[in-house]
Amino acid sequence: MTTPLPARPGAGLPDHPRFLWRNPEPRRGYDVVIVGGGGHGLATAHYLARNHGITNVAVLEKGWLGGGNLARNTTLVRSNYLWDASATIYEHSLKLWEGLEEDLGYPILFSQRGVLNLAHSEQDVRDSVRRVEANKLNGIDASWIGPDEIAKICPIVNLSDGIRYPVLGAAYQPRAGIAKHDYVGWGFARRADEAGIDLIQGCEVTGFVTGGDRVTGVRTSRGTIGAGQVLLCAAGNTTTLTDMLGLRTPVQSHPLQALVSELLEPVHPCIVMSNAVHVYVSQAHKGELVMGAGVDAYNGYGQRGSFHVIERQMSAAVELFPVFARAHLLRSWAGTVDVCPGPSPIVDRTPYGNLFLNCGWGTGGFKATPGIGWCLADTLANDKIHPYLEPFSLGRFVTGALVDEHGAAGVAH
Ligand SMILES: Cc1cc2nc3c(=O)[nH]c(=O)nc-3n(C[C@H](O)[C@H](O)[C@H](O)COP(=O)(O)OP(=O)(O)OC[C@H]3O[C@@H](n4cnc5c(N)ncnc54)[C@H](O)[C@@H]3O)c2cc1C
Repeated sequence: MTTPLPARPGAGLPDHPRFLWRNPEPRRGYDVVIVGGGGHGLATAHYLARNHGITNVAVLEKGWLGGGNLARNTTLVRSNYLWDASATIYEHSLKLWEGLEEDLGYPILFSQRGVLNLAHSEQDVRDSVRRVEANKLNGIDASWIGPDEIAKICPIVNLSDGIRYPVLGAAYQPRAGIAKHDYVGWGFARRADEAGIDLIQGCEVTGFVTGGDRVTGVRTSRGTIGAGQVLLCAAGNTTTLTDMLGLRTPVQSHPLQALVSELLEPVHPCIVMSNAVHVYVSQAHKGELVMGAGVDAYNGYGQRGSFHVIERQMSAAVELFPVFARAHLLRSWAGTVDVCPGPSPIVDRTPYGNLFLNCGWGTGGFKATPGIGWCLADTLANDKIHPYLEPFSLGRFVTGALVDEHGAAGVAH
């Protein structure tokens, strides 16, 4: 007897349209110029049109839409951050994720399958419980669970106490999930294009035209384009742009890699993250195991990473999931991420009053995509930093009012 095949991922959802978006020539000028056609730039464009009726907007992308980190990330979406500032923006974003497919009219395969953040030491346990309690105070679904409960949620995790880092429990967020990252970008792009926003690919920003304390235009590989307001959403390339203006930002660019296995039957029901052994694993709709770890330590713009990082993350993955020991890796790749001390993002107005900076999302900005797009659109429309973004100012590196998620929650993706 043959076993029926599982439903095709996305079955029942609309097929891909033949037409995605126009490829317009750049005009002489726009009210708003967004630099970077990744998730953040495209989401901002969408919400400018949708929430504020602002459509005289261009998104300038040096390569192709989604060629940066947007379609290179491991697609984890969650909001269980420790500090109020982070929890607020990521939870705002998660709520938007929950209605995004309808909003965009496009399949994004958002699957809320829950995340387990494993604890392997007494200190891990204390930190995790603290984070769970902080999450609850912020209205975020979070609980602390022991090994028995972990076994029910994810039976393939190695819960033996004989391993080097035994699993003592986990912080659990059931509403966390994964989405299909390139579809997310295309969904935002299609909506923005439909609203009349120009998405201009193959258009690299190479300089700025300034007048006093304003940026009046951008120089590009396709000519100079005038701008009423400019928003930088260039992720790992941020400092190459801010250097052109003589602005110093505490951001470093690092390669961050990920890898996928061959296609497997559905075997892994949720997302498992472990900071102690440093690996995280989920299973994509198609069947690949999707795995990631930390950044390569050196600065660089290469979209590939070092072998020793893969080696470490593989040994961690196999210890946590012995069942995967004989799975084959299919491919690995990297993106260039913009790492900020903390690590929390920088979203602020620059000394050029009409130039706004959005960067420093490092290894975790995919999940923020709808939330940051919403808040940046509001910021541009009202010419005032959205309240959710105020804690992420550049000034915090002077005042010391940091949002230290790294030290606190120790979580990267
Ligand atoms: C391997 C990996 C795994 C990750 N995993 C996760 C995860 O699981 N969950 C999560 O939340 N986040 C994750 N991230 C981080 C996340 O991908 C990023 O924080 C986020 O995508 C950054 O926003 P973006 O999509 O706008 O960036 P990008 O897609 O990188 O967009 C920036 C764009 O700017 C363009 N650009 C740069 N310079 C110029 C210029 N001069 N002119 C014109 N255009 C320019 C680039 O070509 C690029 O397309 C991961 C990242 C990587 C690399």
